[in-house]
Formats: sequence, structure tokens, C-alpha cells
Amino acid sequence: LNRRLQGLGTTIFAEMSALATATGSINLGQGFPDTDGPREIAEAAARAVLTGQGNQYPPGPGIPELRQAVAEHQLRFHGLGHDPDTEVLVTAGATEAIAAALLALLEPGDEVIALEPFYDSYAACIAMAGAVRVPLTLRAPAFRPDLDELRSLITPRTRLLLLNTPHNPTGTVLTPEELAGIAALAVEHDLLVVADEVYEHLVFSGVHHPIAALPGMRERTVSISSAGKTFSFTGWKVGWVTASAPLVAAVRTAKQYLTYVSAGPFQYAVAEALRLPDEYFAAFRADLLRKRDLLADGLDAAGFQVFRPEGTYFITTDITPLGEKDGLEFCRSLPARCGVVAIPNVVFYDNTDAGRSLVRFTFCKRDDVLTEAVARLRRL
Ligand code: PMP
Ligand code: GLN
Repeated sequence: LNRRLQGLGTTIFAEMSALATATGSINLGQGFPDTDGPREIAEAAARAVLTGQGNQYPPGPGIPELRQAVAEHQLRFHGLGHDPDTEVLVTAGATEAIAAALLALLEPGDEVIALEPFYDSYAACIAMAGAVRVPLTLRAPAFRPDLDELRSLITPRTRLLLLNTPHNPTGTVLTPEELAGIAALAVEHDLLVVADEVYEHLVFSGVHHPIAALPGMRERTVSISSAGKTFSFTGWKVGWVTASAPLVAAVRTAKQYLTYVSAGPFQYAVAEALRLPDEYFAAFRADLLRKRDLLADGLDAAGFQVFRPEGTYFITTDITPLGEKDGLEFCRSLPARCGVVAIPNVVFYDNTDAGRSLVRFTFCKRDDVLTEAVARLRRL
């Protein structure tokens, strides 16, 4: 293993899902739904396979139907217009979009400011690009970015801001004011922004605001999303990038040599999914909101300090009231103690002190599963 990747080891999601399987525990760790997305969309994928749509290499930038559907979706929900031919790129999930964007846009030694706790692939991709990550820590209990702190972190080497809103794992949704402050700094210091917006449809009050819509941001922002979260098909790995033509061309150059293409038949199905009526998106959000409160109330009753999220399908908790200090130890012993798996937030921090006692639970599970998990946690 080269020096850049030293210390990255096995992702926490693989470790904890393996532990869930080995112990037969309820897995509230890795964020994947236990109920698949809409039947008609699954049927569209099956139909695509059986009728020979996408069974051979699809076009490099993604099938035209899907690029068109992504552009329509960006316009319908965010008022952002994109040319499907030059300003949209289909990727192997948001994960590849993040990797390709960072590999395409960073020079070795560039500094990347990322909201901390950060999704684990950010650290790995910044490292693979030979760049340096600089955390902007979101601190309990509010988990808001401090814009003065952000300003102080910017140096002549800063090249890019890596944002994630709605934010995994804290559930923070950046406000229009916060985004405007961040955008102003990006413009002032001529920084690129990579905005990971995979939870764009999981905002529980108000709506998601894309930073690309702010003045001066369109030409410097790479926006990323994915069908995995919005349509509950995480295994399909269909993601996309929307950005200006030069930025999309840059990301496409890297993407060509990572996977070239992926998920041919699923691209046809996702094109249909993106055109589902508004009611689908509203019902998805309402369902997850109900589950959020089911799990948050249960965790609260079980003695956790609960930070009720504004978005995503994760709840961050503090285990200190349970007499516990170390989230990693807690999560490694939890399956044996009570048959539940969770994720220790500390692995997403450089400033580990800020995350030591924080533990994340997902609520994208059936109600009976959440209820049983809470019953087990209450016996701790
Ligand atoms: N970004 C964030 C913040 C995530 O939580 C995830 C996990 N699903 C991803 C990116 C990766 O998305 P995908 O599965 O589409 O690669
Ligand atoms: N995004 C999912 C989570 O945060 C996990 C995806 C993965 O396992 N890479 O739980």
C-alpha cells in the first residue's frame, strides 16, 4: 500500500456490516434501506435488461435519456438549467463522482477544506489525489459551520471546498445564509466547490439549497447526487454530476479512466425515476420524517443524547449520558451487548476529540426493525 493510502484501512461501513452479519444484529450502521424503491422502477430496470437496453457499454457520459432527466430534475427542483449534452455526467454512484472530481481538479499539495465529520471516501480521494485535507469542524450540539473559522483556514494553497448538505452524519442542512457566506469566500479566494448533495430530497423542514444557484457559483461548482438515496436502490450505483461544461469535461476525463461507464440498464430505470411525480418525493420525505421521530424518541428514551437531524437518514447521538466515552469501543461491543450495530462518528474526524463520544444510527429501516432496535437499546 502506498504512502498516500496508509492508515485508510477497511471502511467502517464494511467493518460494521460484517459485524452485523456475523452476530445476527440489527444493522443501523451502514445507510441502506431494507425496503427497495418503487416497484415500477425495478420493473423498468428488468425491462431494460430483457429488451437489450444498456446491456453493452452505454455512452461514456451516460445515456442521453438519463442526462436529459437529470437536467429536468435540476430545473424542476432547484431552478437550475443545464445542457444535458455538456453539463451533465453520469457516474458509478456519487462515490465515483467525488473521486473523479477530486482527481480531475486537484494538484498534488493543494489544500481541500472539508466539513468535518466527513464522509469517509472524501479522506481517501483527497489522499489519492495527493492533496491535503483541512477540516472545518462541525461541533456538538449545533453542528454549524463557523464562517470565521472557515476564513481562517483558507491559505494560498487552498484550491477547493468540499461541502456536503444535507450532511452525513450530523444531519445538518446548510442554511441560505451559511451557503451565501461560503459562496462569498469561494468567490473572493477563487476556490472551486464540490457539493455532495446525495440527500437533497431528505430535508425535513424547508428545502435543500444548492450552492450552485448562488451568484458567482455556477462556474466554480461541481454538484453531485445519486439515485441510491432518493430512490432506495443503493446497489445500482447510478450517480451524476452537474456543472459548467469545462468542469464536466474535466471530471469526465478522470471518470473515463476510472470506470469508463457503468450500470447500463439501470440508467434507463433511473431516467424514469427522476421523472416520478412530486408526490413520490413528498411521500419519501414524509415516510423518513416519521421514521426519524420514531428512532429519535426511542434513542432518547434509551438514554442517548439525541441530535435530531434536519436532513439525511442518520441520527447522531452522544453516548456520554449512558456512562460511555468511546464511540468506537461502544460500537464494537454493542452487537454482543444487545444485538444492534451503529457507526462511531470518530472515524470521520481528524480532530478526534470532537467526535469521540458520538455514534450514528440510520433510520432508513422498516418500522418494526426500528422498534425492535430501540427495545434492545433500552435494555443496555
Ligand atoms: N456521499 C454521501 C454523503 C453519502 O452518504 C454517500 C453514501 N451513500 C455517498 C456519497 C455515496 O453515494 P453512492 O452510493 O451513490 O456512491
Ligand atoms: N453512505 C452510506 C453511509 O454513510 C454508506 C455507503 C458505503 O458503505 N460506502 O452509511
